[in-house]
Amino acid sequence: MTSPIKLAIVGVGKIVYDQHLPAISANPDFTLVATASRNNTIDNVPSFPTIEAMLEAHPEIDAVSLCMPPQYRYAAARKALAAGKHVFMEKPPGATLSEVADLDAYAAEQGVSLFASWHSRYAPGVQPAKSHLAANAPTSMHVIWKEDVRQWHPNQDWIWQAGGLGVFDPGINALSIVTEILPSAVFLTKAALEFPENRDAPIAADLHFQNADAVKVHAEFDWRQTGKQSWDIVVTTVQGELRLADGGARLWINGAEQPLEKEAEYPSLYQRFAALIRAGQSDVDVSPLRHVADAFMLGRRKVVEAFHD
Ligand code: NAP
Repeated sequence: MTSPIKLAIVGVGKIVYDQHLPAISANPDFTLVATASRNNTIDNVPSFPTIEAMLEAHPEIDAVSLCMPPQYRYAAARKALAAGKHVFMEKPPGATLSEVADLDAYAAEQGVSLFASWHSRYAPGVQPAKSHLAANAPTSMHVIWKEDVRQWHPNQDWIWQAGGLGVFDPGINALSIVTEILPSAVFLTKAALEFPENRDAPIAADLHFQNADAVKVHAEFDWRQTGKQSWDIVVTTVQGELRLADGGARLWINGAEQPLEKEAEYPSLYQRFAALIRAGQSDVDVSPLRHVADAFMLGRRKVVEAFHD
């Protein structure tokens, strides 16, 4: 029997209330001992305005989950690692690839676990899709990630600021699935990004990838979708077609819907984090973030009409 990992949360907001709290309270491997957030608190949990104040008041903390916007993740991660804490990072793991590399190296130096989480990889259809594609070579893939930003990201100013990623905030979830299920890595060959004239982050992106095996991937991300929302990946294979829908929650192979486990993305993330801590390992895969960085580097930029909430 090992004792529960004493966990703290930094940056209490939408995803903490929606997903982290239920997943943590259902997992006997963790006990939530404190939070650090400038404005928000969790009932019956000691709350502090800063990570420094929290770490000083609760030296028994073993691990922290960093759930603030990506532009502020590095500073908090560095402080937590310096204090010898294991660190769980919400997606995306940072605002730049280099800062994540710095954290990865620092976690190893400190002898603690660093987990760059990608929740969509734990959607129930993802591992069955990966197994199918390992046995049935894909030839092309079409990713359609189109949602209504006003519905899903109201009042999130950070998401429109530099480093907030804009439409890549949801789009990186698609890329986390693509990089998980494809048997061989692809790279970006062409991209077009649409920036509202009053924002520093894109509202839409059109991306083309390929690899030496000539697998072609076309991804369309758009935040102006009203009506039906789409989080779909359609793969053509040598044997037919595989389709993931609802962000990986449903799977069809050659037209037949496959029976899947119940959705448990965040419970699975916390099981993985506990396993990493117990094994003394880290898991920092930056491949989805690297594709986004490539899109900003290679993509043609088109200015489109201003976006107002
Ligand atoms: P959010 O509610 O807008 O922000 C989370 C919290 O971060 C805020 O409540 C705020 O708490 C703190 N924060 C905001 N601006 C900050 C700043 N300038 N400096 C320090 N802290 C700041 O966002 P969210 O939707 O929970 O998303 C947070 C992260 O989770 C993002 O990386 C996002 O991609 C990821 N995520 C979100 C979802 C989703 O459905 N929303 C799903 C999966 C992953 P205080 O004001 O109390 O400090």
